[in-house]
This record gives sequence, C-alpha cells and structure tokens, in this order.
Amino acid sequence: MGETTGILAHNLGFPRIGAGRELKRALEAYWRGETSREALEATGRMLREHHLRLQAEKGIDLVPVGDFSFYDHVLDATCLLGALPRRLGTDGPPDLDDYFRMARGRAPRGEDVPACEMTKWFDTNYHYIVPELRPDLRFEGGWTRLLDEVREAAEWLEPRRLKPVLVGPLTWLWLGKPEAEPFDRLTLLEPLAAAYGRILSGLQALGVEWVQLDEPVLALDLPAEWRQAFESLYSRLQVRGLRVLLATYFGALDENLELALRLPVDGIHLDLVRAPGQLEAALDRIGPYKVLSAGVIDGRNVWRADLGAVLDRLEAARARLGGRLWVAPSCSLLHVPVDAALETGLDEELRGWLAFAVQKLEEVALLRDALREGRAAHAGRLEAARAARAARLASARTRDEAVRARAAAVTEDMARRRSPYPDRRAAQRARLELPPLPTTTIGSFPQTPEIRRTRRAFRAGELDREAYERAMKAEIERCIRFQERVGLDVLVHGEPERNDMVEYFGEQLAGFAFTRNGWVQSYGSRCVKPPLIYGDVSRPRPMTVDWIAHAQSLTDRPVKGMLTGPVTILQWSFVRDDLPREAVATQIALAIRDEVADLEAAGIRAIQIDEPAFREGLPLRRRDWPGYLEWAVRCFRLASAVARDETQIHTHMCYSEFNDVIEAIAAMDADVISIEASRSRMELLEAFARFDYPNEIGPGVWDIHSPRVPPVEEMEALVRRALERIPAERLWVNPDCGLKTRDWPEVEQALAHMVEAARRVRATLADAARAADG
Ligand code: GLN
Ligand code: ZN
Repeated sequence: MGETTGILAHNLGFPRIGAGRELKRALEAYWRGETSREALEATGRMLREHHLRLQAEKGIDLVPVGDFSFYDHVLDATCLLGALPRRLGTDGPPDLDDYFRMARGRAPRGEDVPACEMTKWFDTNYHYIVPELRPDLRFEGGWTRLLDEVREAAEWLEPRRLKPVLVGPLTWLWLGKPEAEPFDRLTLLEPLAAAYGRILSGLQALGVEWVQLDEPVLALDLPAEWRQAFESLYSRLQVRGLRVLLATYFGALDENLELALRLPVDGIHLDLVRAPGQLEAALDRIGPYKVLSAGVIDGRNVWRADLGAVLDRLEAARARLGGRLWVAPSCSLLHVPVDAALETGLDEELRGWLAFAVQKLEEVALLRDALREGRAAHAGRLEAARAARAARLASARTRDEAVRARAAAVTEDMARRRSPYPDRRAAQRARLELPPLPTTTIGSFPQTPEIRRTRRAFRAGELDREAYERAMKAEIERCIRFQERVGLDVLVHGEPERNDMVEYFGEQLAGFAFTRNGWVQSYGSRCVKPPLIYGDVSRPRPMTVDWIAHAQSLTDRPVKGMLTGPVTILQWSFVRDDLPREAVATQIALAIRDEVADLEAAGIRAIQIDEPAFREGLPLRRRDWPGYLEWAVRCFRLASAVARDETQIHTHMCYSEFNDVIEAIAAMDADVISIEASRSRMELLEAFARFDYPNEIGPGVWDIHSPRVPPVEEMEALVRRALERIPAERLWVNPDCGLKTRDWPEVEQALAHMVEAARRVRATLADAARAADG
C-alpha cells in the first residue's frame, strides 16, 4: 500500500469539520474572543494530521492536502491568489482575521466590513464565498497557506503521496462576480494563468508529484469563449516535474468531454456516479498517456456501494488502461458525514447499509486491491459489500406495498384544484374576511433559549409529555396574543415545537432515519444533519394538526397551518438511491397531502407549504430543467390540490431569483406566494410583473437576516414600490422569511412597523378609490 504508480486509490477531499465538529467549536470560540489564534491554529493542525493519517491508514495512495479550510476552499483560493476586495483595506497577504472579515464581516481583529456574498456550490447545500473581481486584479501578494500545509503534511507522509488540491483557475473565475461595474471576466485570464503557474511551481519545489485542479464548471453549459479559455489557459500551466489531475464532478461533461481530454494535463477525474455513461466515451478518446481517475464511489450520498457492479466496469477499463486507471470517490467527501461507525443510535441493520467518508475510503481501497490482485484475493470483503447492499434492497423496511399502490394510482385530477384561481379567490376572500394588503408572517417566531431548553429536556426524557405540551401551548398562546395585539391579519402558531423544518416532519414520517453525528458543513462553522430517507414514505398519523388547531381555538382570526413541501424535504435529506428522486418526492407529497386534508377538516382556513429548496433542486444543465420542474411542480400540486376552493394555499420561497423559473412557480398554482424581496428592493418583482403572475404575492418588506429594525417609512416605501408592479388586490405584506433567529423585542417592533406601513398604504388606496368614485 501507499504506492505512487500502477492502479492507485486516491481521494479528492476529506470532510474538514471533524467527526465531533471540533472545527466548528474552535472557530466559534475564537470568533467570540474566548480563545487565542494559536489555539485555533492548533485545532486546524490536529484535524489535518488526523485526517491525513486516517486516509493513509485506510490505504489511500495519494492523499489530498489543501482540502482543509478554516471557512471555505473557494475563499482559500481567493486568498492564495491575493484577490482581495479593496474595502478590506489590506495590501499585503491577508492574515487569518482578514480572511474571516471577508467571510463574515467580522473578526477578533480588524474593522468590520460588509462580508462577501455567499452562495451555493453547484447543486450542493455547501456555500462558498463568491470571489470579487475587478479588471485590474494582478493576483500578487496572496497567502502561503497551501504551501505551508504541504510542508506540514510532509512531516507526516512522504511528499510523493501528497496531492495538493485547489479550485482550478476557470472554475474560480466562473464563480467570481465583478466587484462593481460588469466587465468580461476572461480579460483576467493572462494574470490568472501566471499566478497559477507560480503556485504550481511552488508546489513542485516541495517535491510533490501530482496536483489536483478542480474544474467542476466543465459539467455546466459553457459559452464558447470559456471553452476556448480552457485551452489557452491550460496550455500555459505546464510545470516540469509536476503532473496535473484535472478533476470534474457533479455531472457529465458531454460536449466538454473532448475538450477536457484534449487539454495538456496528465490525468482527468470523471464523476461516474452521476454520469456513468461517460466512461465508454472517455476510454475511446483518452489517448495513450493520460491517467483516468474513475469517480465510482458516491461522494454525495451515504449508501454502501455495489462493489461487484463497479468492478465489472472497472475491470473493462483496466483492460484498456492498465496502471493509468485510478479509483476515487465521485467528488470530494466534503458532502458526506465522517464516520458511520459512530452511529450507534441506529439499529445494526440500518447502520450496515451506510458508508460515510471513512467507509467510502475503505471501499475505494478495496476496489483498488481487487483490481490489482484479482477479486478472488478479496472475495470475503466483496461478498460482505454485496450482501449489505442486497439486504437493503430486499429489506421489508424499504418497501410498503400500500404506499407503492397509492403512488401508482395518482391521477392528474388529484394534482388540480377544483376551480381556477379567480373562483377560489372569491371563496377565500368571503371566508377569510381580509382587508386589502393583508399582513401575515412566514411561520416561525423567535426560538428563545427557553424554548430550545424545553424541547431538549423533553427529548432527553427529563420532561414528561404533558409538561412539554403545556409549555409549547403557552408559547403558542403568547404568539397568538401578540399577533392579535399588533394587528396582523393571518396569524401563525409560531413553530416553537420545531427544531428544523425538515427534521420535524421526517421524525414523524415512516421511511426516515436520523443520525447522531451525521453532520455536513453548510457554510463556515455551520453544519446540518440531513435525515436519511431509506424506505417508502408515509404518514402514520397527523403531524401538525393538534398544534395548529390549538392555535386556531385561541382566536377568531385565521391561523395558517405550516407545512414543509415535498421538494424541500427531499432536497435537504440523503435520499435512497434505489428509486428515482421523483418517486420519493411523490410519496412525500402524498403524506403532506394527507396533512393538508386533516388540517382543513380541523377547520384551518389557510395552509402554507414551504418550498425554500425548490430552486436549488434545479439540475446543472439547462436541458434537464424541464424534466425536474415538471415533477417538482406536480408534487407540490399533489400535496396541495386536495384543499377545497375556500381553503387558501400559501407557499414560501426565500431567495430572489425567479426570472428563469417563473412559469413553473405560476404552475404550482398556490393562491399566495411569499418571497424574499427586501434586499433587492423589490427588483425581483419585475419577473412577476413581466410574466403577469396571476395569483397573489407577498414580497418581503423586512430583511429578517439582519438585527436591524426597519422604520415604518422604509417598509411603506417598499410596499408602494411593490404596488407599481403588482395590483393591490393581489398584494400581501409580510417579512422576507421566518423569525426564528430574531429576538422578541426586534420582532415586536418590526411587525408593529410592518402593520402600520400596510395601514398607511391602505389609507391612500381608500382615498384614491373615493376620489375615483366621486
Ligand atoms: N415556515 C418556516 C419558518 O418560518 C420557513 C423557513 C424557510 O423558509 N427557510 O421558519
Ligand atoms: Zn424563508
């Protein structure tokens, strides 16, 4: 083991946060000013050493270096390149506090600055810091952390087995945005190529043999100039004595495959989990020199692989490539939790189905061994893998015939409301007795430390159910009374019983399991613990009805029932891989549909089905959009269309890009949609106005991500701006998103301002109407 020639096992990146979220804790303590810089650096070093040794021990021949990051690897590349925003006020290489100021606007040392924008990394739930570009960037004066980490790693492993990884130049540039005026980013190609050249030379001098440049943009629809840029840039990146592995992932290269194989690099990594079909084409075109790294172990999901089936394909590839075939996960393991062996809370059967990062490395190494030495030499372990997978697929726990039958019997009618929106509108207005420009909120109210404590005590068994319910109902009453007092029109119960909008439902649905330590980095120190959907999904009993009905019993005003939509539940979970995603979404939609029917039967007059993840589910390639949008919309409609005409269906999405999906949003046919809009100053309403969006809209007038309470006038101005684009009969007034991260004093003030803003605009509308009459 630990060779550097022949069929190699390698890894593209390891989760950096630590099995016990050590990095999270260290970062947050440092940011709070409780610990020193040295302590933080020591934790980083400890994690790097541990992860490197662990990978070597598992038999990985080439171990990544540079995959560790104190916040984000794209930001690391930005700092390595010295491409710092001017407002940072730093000329020389950034120091760690400058780095944190870019990431989050604040660090123990240095002035606060507006943080750089953050957005999702391709179709994952990981967020990167957007590079800020300007025409005069020269990419000098960057930091040296990557080189330092290679030197450090060389204390633990021979340099030839270290493979520095970094975001490739064109992916970095593609992800970047002009700091101010728009300009052609490709004008930065020359200095960027020079900078990468310097970085590669520096790495070569440290004795490494391979470096991995990640270019996932090759799996996107690339304009012709960008494809050309790949040729011109990579032809300049050759450093004697250093070999470049070009890593692609998250999808098929398709029309970019030939381009990628033509580039003067020494190896190419392909994602053969997402896009198994590209192996044949690659084998035909790879030529006599390049290494093909086969990404065959799923870096985006948590199930053990069918190693036998993988070997069938790899053996055919080995026959053509010999030692130029490498084995790897499909992408960095950043997107899966660290170690399934820690999940002692799961029953043994379920645990046996799982492979987290550590187990995936074992799978990669085993594949390598079987390719080198033959299957017979590893028959026992291969058989165990086969059996584990077969057991999952055959397990009665993954199949529920009633659910399958019900999904098979879904008709188009079930996904259609009884009457078209204009008729429903009349029925709803009559029943809800709403004023013009009705006010509402998005669902959650502040999750106070006390609420969290109560929920925790109940989970730990320290508080009995009765006491727990009493505490939650008291909180609900507090929310209802406040909303009545402040004068909101459609009330919510406040969601105190919910830890998380997906977990809350997953815990009550059949087919879901939850891990104890299955954390995955979302951004910076923030981690999420996605549920596992392993079996057919159904709803054994109502999930929200008691709480909502209780809230409604306290008031005459309508209380909105709060549900999470099927696409969002799917998108924020690890999903079984033995059914198409669309089939799983349909099962979830049917479960939500039952909840809608039960809420309605309990007298609830408005029901909101949140779909904040609707847009992030979009496939990377445009040509795949229609297919996704078709089933995503259908599932939302299936969940909601059971409602009678007079029941008002709301949905909520918290982002502000709708231009390219507005048709699908309209096809969802929710009666009301609330969206984030305050930061874009209602600009996104253009999309709705241009399209002539037919139903009701509530553009947010309060940016709830900020602790700042906007004055009445500011919200009023936003409502008036919205009125320029949306007719008054179809406009609602609400915040951007839920209020769970805010505190009560802010909420009380801001909602009072919001209601007052709505009143003022209503008054002018009434004046205008009178003037027109008389
Ligand atoms: N109803 C949820 C809440 O208010 C919606 C959260 C979200 O959009 N992410 O918290
Ligand atoms: Zn939201």
